[in-house]
Amino acid sequence: MKRIGLFINGQSVPSETGKYFQVLNPATKEVVAEVAEGNEDDVNKAVSAAAAAFNQTEWAVNKDLRYRVLNRLAAILRESLPELVELESMMTGRPIREMKAQLSRLPEWYEYFASVAKTLEDAVPPFGGEFVNYTNRIPLGVVALVTPWNHPLLILTKKLAPALAAGNAVVVKPSENTPVTTYFLAELAQEAGVPAGILNVVQGYGAVVGKALTSHPSIEKVDITGGTETGRHVAAAAGYNLSKVSAELGGKASVLVLPDANLEEAVNGSAFAAFIAAGQTCVQGSRILVHESMYEDFIDKFIAKAKKLLMGDPKKFDTDIGPVISEKQYKQILSYIQIGQEEGAVLAFGGTAPEQDELANGYFITPAIFTQVTNSMRIAQEEIFGPVTCVMKYSSMEELISIANGTEMGLAMSIWTNNVRDAHWLANRLEAGIVWINDHHRIDPSSPWGGFKNSGIGLENSIQCYKDYTKTRNVIVNISRQHFDWFDGTTQEKRYS
Ligand code: NDP
Repeated sequence: MKRIGLFINGQSVPSETGKYFQVLNPATKEVVAEVAEGNEDDVNKAVSAAAAAFNQTEWAVNKDLRYRVLNRLAAILRESLPELVELESMMTGRPIREMKAQLSRLPEWYEYFASVAKTLEDAVPPFGGEFVNYTNRIPLGVVALVTPWNHPLLILTKKLAPALAAGNAVVVKPSENTPVTTYFLAELAQEAGVPAGILNVVQGYGAVVGKALTSHPSIEKVDITGGTETGRHVAAAAGYNLSKVSAELGGKASVLVLPDANLEEAVNGSAFAAFIAAGQTCVQGSRILVHESMYEDFIDKFIAKAKKLLMGDPKKFDTDIGPVISEKQYKQILSYIQIGQEEGAVLAFGGTAPEQDELANGYFITPAIFTQVTNSMRIAQEEIFGPVTCVMKYSSMEELISIANGTEMGLAMSIWTNNVRDAHWLANRLEAGIVWINDHHRIDPSSPWGGFKNSGIGLENSIQCYKDYTKTRNVIVNISRQHFDWFDGTTQEKRYS
């Protein structure tokens, strides 16, 4: 078992509290690691270290250095994947096959944003007159990254790669459930050449460390992924400090199956959308909207597919579904399964503890499929964040759009069809920041990721995200050879340009 400190100013240090909290494997409840429990004083130390490194090292001003270091980090990450995959799977309970697929893509983020930093050109606005006018994008300063437990390293990387590439100094607060790999990533970044103090990690509880960090007056930007209520608190604190904020929050994604869709493909896509990561993704396909002409067939095939998913030990390569993250989530998911039934929906499959004895110690729930669901039910509206999905029937495009847009969330949706015209017509009418056509969960560092409505504010990925980690300085140069004196004692008209 490992004991892990905070990572401040390039060193592993104990926390001010002297306490450690345990990180458990949700498949077995075994202790994965003991992690230093930070507090407000640790946050202050980390922010001071970051500010000093920002001002005193070359990081903020040397793009070539950042380009080289981030590419080196990508290479080191590739070599470290086997250990990181194993650790991440142990902390999250997510099957090793999923973690391997997810983490093997991380280096791309560091390479992409290193290239953006290296190649992005600043503007020369058409100012007019005898002036040269140009803009400089410069880093913000010290930024705070707060991450959840479902994709610990992927979500960290989506924020960290652009933040570092743009030249900022960073303090990270990982989820209390999954802080271990974040610490190791910080060590790898140091090995790659990120200067001491530019990347700091303070582990601990959201209500203590998260709150102190996101309301710290020296933080120039807060970037959080978490629940919508957490996002509101954090955005309010950032607003008071007049710092920037980006918040990737909850979702309630719809999967839209059009009448012409290939049934097999739509069923497989829906299972992928709903049950990967045991449904613990912000873009989980938790509302599957199927045309009435194929509704019964779809349900039969969807249940047959769910039956085949292998629930088991996340360490085994053939496991499809692991446990959910914690006792708190486990109880919450079971309570929603109860609520759905009380609301009158039919639990057509799953939603129970698995039969295998060897899974009795973990937080396992079999994939749950609700039918006879109406859009006003709580299970259709509230984020459950577990392996639970609702299949709903629609009869017209108008009804489909009204159900799909009929939630307070607006993160993502997918459309399954072979009709190119309907696909784009529909995509243009959906209130979601991400729309996939004949796919789900697909992500890339170049592709903007952010929610509409209560799913958040700001973006991850893409050049825009890099820009959002910078501020703009405008330089106005007067190149006129004529001396200008407003107060020259004459009353003649003068141009104000
Ligand atoms: P939480 O909102 O509980 O926590 C997110 C992070 O915020 C954690 O590090 C948490 O710390 C911290 N935190 C909690 N309270 C505060 C506070 N008052 N001030 C500052 N920080 C705080 O979310 P979960 O970790 O449970 O993650 C699941 C949520 O994340 C879901 O709603 C999901 O939809 C969303 N999500 C959104 C994504 C997107 O791209 N839009 C992607 C993935 C997830 P601690 O854990 O220690 O309490």
